[in-house]
Amino acid sequence: DKIQEERLKYLTDEKRIKAVTVLFSDLEGRLHMLDYDKKFLVKSYDNLTFDGSSIRGFTAQKESDLRLGIDWSAFYWVPADILGSGKIFVFGQVIDKQGGPYSGDLRSVLRAYADKLYAEKGFTLNAANEIEGFLFAGRDAERHFHQTGRFDYVNTGGYYHSLPGDPLRTFIDSAAEVQRALGFENEKDHPEVAPSQFEINYSYGEVVAAADQIQLYKLLCRQIATGLGFTASFLPKPVVGVNGSGMHTNMSITKDGINLFWDAEGQEQLSAFGWEFVDRILTRGSDLCLPLNSSVNAYRRLDPHFEAPNQIKASATDRGSMVRIPIGNSKSMRVEVRSVGPDANPYLALYSLFRTGLDGDISTIKNLRSANRYLPDNIYTALEDFRGSKWVSTILGDDVKDRFADLKQGSADRCPRLLGTFVKAPEVQYH
Ligand code: GLU
Ligand code: MG
Ligand code: MG
Repeated sequence: DKIQEERLKYLTDEKRIKAVTVLFSDLEGRLHMLDYDKKFLVKSYDNLTFDGSSIRGFTAQKESDLRLGIDWSAFYWVPADILGSGKIFVFGQVIDKQGGPYSGDLRSVLRAYADKLYAEKGFTLNAANEIEGFLFAGRDAERHFHQTGRFDYVNTGGYYHSLPGDPLRTFIDSAAEVQRALGFENEKDHPEVAPSQFEINYSYGEVVAAADQIQLYKLLCRQIATGLGFTASFLPKPVVGVNGSGMHTNMSITKDGINLFWDAEGQEQLSAFGWEFVDRILTRGSDLCLPLNSSVNAYRRLDPHFEAPNQIKASATDRGSMVRIPIGNSKSMRVEVRSVGPDANPYLALYSLFRTGLDGDISTIKNLRSANRYLPDNIYTALEDFRGSKWVSTILGDDVKDRFADLKQGSADRCPRLLGTFVKAPEVQYH
């Protein structure tokens, strides 16, 4: 198509570009990067294969060869000082033997679902994620933690607090600058409530692009932090006794440019269509907890005393509710799922939420939006709810469902179970 043609021509003509990095994510959401020589890629982009057996959650060894397609619309110019010179980033999609989306590559699955909804109903799925993280002293803070049981802050400030020359401010400024260079539409950034905690907000986007941006956000934050001699961590609850980090997921659906979640007369100005979306998600709150909170550490965060939810409820104001309806207008009206942790696979999280919100069933229990129902408070309960869910089998297929559950079970079992709320979490070391 046209975009592909343009990008290929650009690559061929632009002498400064030497290599193209193709990015894709494994089942757990870990980002993988494959560097291709530019000339090779331009020649062979429609015949790329790789060994899927080395990627966690992908194929078994006996059927290890997978194809990699290029999504030319997800093409990013990379700032040379941060991510190396002469390179382009482009997202890939893993393709199965039949040429369809490979079920273990949730980006492909999400893309196919979004395309189908657009073709059948004219819906565009939009997402905006508020990604919080911590900046810790030292390049190797997560390893240091395993030896000492401690993370060291780079500042002791707090919400919106920053002074010139403050290391957290320096970091936030360069991260925002790199985001702009990559084409993010930045909106605001600030130190968060906990010491050494940050959040950088940018505009919403089409759901696949939004998920790609989450992966890029975390990558560039880590890279910038390393350059400054620090570590950016997206552990949901690295330090006991202060706020953890969330990845609040805001969603809306538009058709012909009209936001279908807005209704000036609706309850909280959310349309009936929007409330059904919420009700379906609340119905499957427990079943979906594992994809949204995929690590032992994520369950340490879910505590309303620290602004993170533990209740399967919807509310306009209560930050202890899994779903919140923020104040909006005809353009910005959206539904916010607050429980999502920053170490979730963004493609899996967004696919599960949109698919459930649009195609799920609605529970007949009384007062679904306000009944006293709680999210699982540990990963083992979440694993049981996930494995027991017919709905999860429907949306992911049993094969991917079992593989994901087995990976999470394995990492939970490897995680030393300490007393109290402070836990070593080797399974999230690389998130
Ligand atoms: N850090 C809180 C959380 O873990 C969220 C704070 C906020 O509302 O921005 O979700
Ligand atoms: Mg925040
Ligand atoms: Mg929020």
